[in-house]
Amino acid sequence: MTFPENLMRETTRDFQIYYNPELHGEIRLDTNTNVLGSNPAATRYLADGKWDLNGYPNTYSNGLRSALAELYGLETENLLAGNGSDEMLDVAFKTFTNWGDRCVVPVPSYTLYDYFVKLNGGTTVESDLTEDFQLDVDDIVRSGAKVVIMPSPNNPTGNCFRRKDVEDILSRFDGVVIVDEAYGEYAEGSMMGRVEEFDNLVVMRTFSKAYAMAAMRVGYAAANKRLMDMMLRIKIPYSLNMVSEGAAIAALKDQDFIRRSVAMVREQRPLLDAGLRKLGFETFPSDSNFIMARSPIDHKVLVDGLKARGVLIRDFGAKRRTENCVRTTVGTAELNAILLEKAAEVIESCR
Ligand SMILES: *Cc1c(COP(=O)(O)O)cnc(C)c1O
Repeated sequence: MTFPENLMRETTRDFQIYYNPELHGEIRLDTNTNVLGSNPAATRYLADGKWDLNGYPNTYSNGLRSALAELYGLETENLLAGNGSDEMLDVAFKTFTNWGDRCVVPVPSYTLYDYFVKLNGGTTVESDLTEDFQLDVDDIVRSGAKVVIMPSPNNPTGNCFRRKDVEDILSRFDGVVIVDEAYGEYAEGSMMGRVEEFDNLVVMRTFSKAYAMAAMRVGYAAANKRLMDMMLRIKIPYSLNMVSEGAAIAALKDQDFIRRSVAMVREQRPLLDAGLRKLGFETFPSDSNFIMARSPIDHKVLVDGLKARGVLIRDFGAKRRTENCVRTTVGTAELNAILLEKAAEVIESCR
């Protein structure tokens, strides 16, 4: 028997293990979760919960889907919920791509898109963003691909794409357009409420970022009823567990927590940006709860030096288009002060 390399599916043999840092109590500014801490309403729900663990949850999480429908002025049939928006990405590619179909992924954008495309038998077509990290609309339309995916606000650059460009792609691209709004709460101009306007729009959101419950793994998608019916039939039944579904419904009822979280980020973001510039970073405009910045010293020296001083940020410095760049979550005033102080130390130690 040939062993073991040839046993693995050819198209995914080069896959690497995903980001999984060993933690020693560091301040985490590397995953863009909510720095105000665990979602209060969900935490209360979990503390008070008395569940019958013997019964299956609703097959398609209809409780959460209808709560989301109410929040966004949509109908339950426009929504899908599951195990993180990562599951929504997986379901979308499973639903819409045939073996070998091409899918457009902007560069730079979310690392996991390429993973989900290839995992589902697709081929990734890279489309470089413009100098100011906006979409190259003609390049995407001309690609002839089956699916295009874009995060808006974009990760890791932080900016939203122009509304007009997204609308142009929706009308000119002959395929499915997925808009990943993982950071949508922090930005203006959501496409969530507009899914019935378009034949080919899928929007995704998550409870992992502004909602401060990444540990529960809840994400959702919206689309017109015809697209959603297709996705619903493909999604693994019961994939969202009952405890997480209940916690998410509880969290939706406390919109005040989301408003406070967003207000904190809007207040702190320009201050952190100014602090980074003062240290010699080149920062990029952000509509989300993180900032991408080009380091004044070697990116790896910076990220490792911060880690040694108890602060984690994310390194994008070895990748094309984000050369020597890092990404940090916008912290509270206290956390940002620590980040800036430690960064100054690392930079100083390089002189
Ligand atoms: C964090 C993130 C997600 C992940 O969402 P989960 O719901 O935790 O799976 C999806 N898309 C982007 C762009 C993200 O940054």
